[in-house]
Amino acid sequence: MSTAKSRLRTALTILIAATGAGAVLFSLLRLRQDAAPDGLFPVLTLALCAAGLGTQVRIKIPRLDAYVTLSDALVFLALFRFGGEAAVLVAAATVLCDRLHFTRNLPSLLSSAASAATSTFLASLAVRVAFGGAVELQGPPALLVGALVVVTLAQSAARSLVFTVCEGGAGDGEGLLPAWGRNLFWTSSAYFAAVAASTFLARLAGLVGFYPTLGSTAVIAVAHIGTGLRASRRRGGRAKKTAARGESDVKESKAASDAAAQENEGLFRSAFDHAAIGMALVSAKGQWLQVNRSLCEILGYNEAELLTTTFQKLTHPDDLGTALANIKQLIKGKLPVYQMEKRYLHRQGHAVWVLWSVSPVRERGSRALHLIFQIQDITDRKRAEERLLHDAFHDALTGLPNRSLFVDHLKLAMARMQRNASQMFAVIFLDLDRFKIINDSLGHLIGDQLLVGIARRLEACLRPGDTVARVGGDEFTILLEDIHDASEAVMVAERLQQELSVPFHLGGREVFTTASIGIAPGTVEYTQPEDVLRDADTAMYRAKSAGKARHEVFDKEMHTVAMNLLQMETDLRGAIDRQEFFIQYQPIVALDDFTLRGFEALVRWQHPTRGLISPMDFIPVAEETGQIVMIGQWALTEACRQMSRWQRRFPSDPPLFISVNLSSRQFTQPDLTAQVRRILAETRLDPRCLKLEITESVVMESIDSATMLLRHLRELGVQLAIDDFGTGYSSLSYLHRFPIDTLKVDRSFVMRMVDNNENIEIVRTILMLAQNLGMDVVAEGVETKDQLALLRKLGCENGQGYYFSRPVSVGGAEKIIAETNAAPAATANGNVKPMRPTLVA
Ligand code: C2E
Ligand code: CA
Ligand code: CA
Repeated sequence: MSTAKSRLRTALTILIAATGAGAVLFSLLRLRQDAAPDGLFPVLTLALCAAGLGTQVRIKIPRLDAYVTLSDALVFLALFRFGGEAAVLVAAATVLCDRLHFTRNLPSLLSSAASAATSTFLASLAVRVAFGGAVELQGPPALLVGALVVVTLAQSAARSLVFTVCEGGAGDGEGLLPAWGRNLFWTSSAYFAAVAASTFLARLAGLVGFYPTLGSTAVIAVAHIGTGLRASRRRGGRAKKTAARGESDVKESKAASDAAAQENEGLFRSAFDHAAIGMALVSAKGQWLQVNRSLCEILGYNEAELLTTTFQKLTHPDDLGTALANIKQLIKGKLPVYQMEKRYLHRQGHAVWVLWSVSPVRERGSRALHLIFQIQDITDRKRAEERLLHDAFHDALTGLPNRSLFVDHLKLAMARMQRNASQMFAVIFLDLDRFKIINDSLGHLIGDQLLVGIARRLEACLRPGDTVARVGGDEFTILLEDIHDASEAVMVAERLQQELSVPFHLGGREVFTTASIGIAPGTVEYTQPEDVLRDADTAMYRAKSAGKARHEVFDKEMHTVAMNLLQMETDLRGAIDRQEFFIQYQPIVALDDFTLRGFEALVRWQHPTRGLISPMDFIPVAEETGQIVMIGQWALTEACRQMSRWQRRFPSDPPLFISVNLSSRQFTQPDLTAQVRRILAETRLDPRCLKLEITESVVMESIDSATMLLRHLRELGVQLAIDDFGTGYSSLSYLHRFPIDTLKVDRSFVMRMVDNNENIEIVRTILMLAQNLGMDVVAEGVETKDQLALLRKLGCENGQGYYFSRPVSVGGAEKIIAETNAAPAATANGNVKPMRPTLVA
């Protein structure tokens, strides 16, 4: 509301209050002085009747939102019968009584009464001017009708003027004159009815007298009120006050409610404009009709721009269908309110996530159906949710999908193939070959960069529909979809390997890497994604053990092998406690005179159901799982104890030695030296009679730490042998650095020696090397007389093999010792009986 208008309003209100007060005073005085024909008493009775009963009796005028009340009729009766002063007093009294129903606020009561007094006073003035005194009710009908019209218009004009100016009867932005005109229309229709009724009452009073007329009116009023009360009680007593409301009231109550509505509307408008969330009134067709500031901020448009467009144009196309469908339901009345999270399009083109509530409203005047939108910006929350969701399914380092997401995609691919077997897929499992070495030597930063670089190259190799995921430290999986057969996956694997063979430039240096790849072609038999991954992993493992930097396609046989391994792993647990291991001993013989020098201890596993299992089969599994540490300790203890016992039972000079194998995992135990020392002490074996065999490759894996360890073992007094010599990465240049006593020439050279000159040369070289380094030599796998002859000719000192004896039990070994080692008397003679070659025909 403008300030000028509000100032005018305040001034008029004060003026009207003053005029009202003056009118009441003036009327009271005039009435007393004139002492109306019947004295003051009838006027008082009329006032009481109007105030007490009149306000309770009201009749709605059809089609108009207005009421005729009995009190209005009685005010006009006072005017006709006792003059303007009486009418002013009756009007003031009735309004006062009526307002008492709604408020106990004295200023408000007095101001209502004053405004009623003012309007009645103005009307009576008009009547006085028009008729020069009282209205003549007995005159000719035309004159009477004219008089009635004047009275009605005068009272309506005055009342509606007061209402329009002082009681909020004008809308916001509406001019006072048009508002007055509008209010005049409905007040005059109400007043005309009241004037007509009062004319009837005045005539009746002229005929039957004033008091009988008033009495019968009161009786009718009481009866009417009684019926109204009963009806309202029947309606559950709802809105009792409203039902019983009366008199001055056509306008008063309408004025009050309109004022309240006005005030509410003002409040609503302000709340709407300043609401923290976006709000809008939208037509059923989607046109923005009213928008608030927050909404403009959310969407990036100003008000004028929004009002020329529709909500459909600003809704994200993906959300439009759902939104429109639900608006339809709202309009049909099938939904009271609808809420959804949807996207709007910001003026700058990006999507804005909002929580959108929409409810239908009917406009008061036109009854047209509109929609109220409440729009709350939830973009930040949505972003956080999306981030969380992304993080839950992606690897933080490379940004690739993680195992969970990969498994999800795999599940879908499997389901597609179940429905249509020609929609084949394959899973590639890729494991870097030397990642640990790169990570340990170049640092984690370079390691991380390498992984990211690999991720990018893998992505670049694939088609858009394929999924590449990082599922472990240096393990990646790839899902190929819509392929025709496994050969396509093999081609992809080859491409990947080729791509990875190009060196990476990281931290100013070239880094080379290779990968071992396993491929599991999809089949309809697969039901679990984990099974496909497991098979791809198995094939990768096979590629790795077949020499790395290669790929293998999974087949059923691999699965059997893998299953057996798994079973073996389980069975190995507790095998020591169940005493399923035992040791066989294979003699090591001096080739010049066939004297027995010692035995190699070879572990055996007597499986409860599968029978005897070769160490070639179970030792790699035990290595993998770490179970080898326990098994190795057991074997070492057992072998040392046995040799210690034999030395006591069959003393010889030099004493027999026992050779025990150490696997790679055993060799890298930090407390190996302490263990060996303890076992020697426990079994009371002379350290010089224990020979530990370590393969060449184990020593070469980490030359520095191996040298240290070998030295420590040497300090204990034990002997050291290099097993399978000639098969590993021969770094002959390092050999002299190791404190080694014996080289064991690998069986493969001995085997092929007879028909291959080259192999003879290798053996000769090894023998010469050993001689130069002050080591002795044992030829492994001597099976034939020819091999023996050749080895003797080359000057090889010791041999071991089936030609002499297979590995035998404790009993078998004792028999050999007893046979080769003469009785104590013979030993005393120095007669050492040579060992009889067991396989000599
Ligand atoms: P190795 O140390 O090279 O053991 C020699 C293997 O050659 C033994 O096989 C033995 O039976 C076999 N052999 C001996 N003479 C001949 C021959 O004339 N012809 C042929 N064809 N073979 C011959 P075995 O007992 O099956 O042991 C296999 C491997 O298992 C051993 O190879 C060794 O590396 C490992 N191993 C055995 N016992 C133990 C143990 O207690 N601890 C550890 N860590 N490894 C062991
Ligand atoms: Ca060995
Ligand atoms: Ca060997």
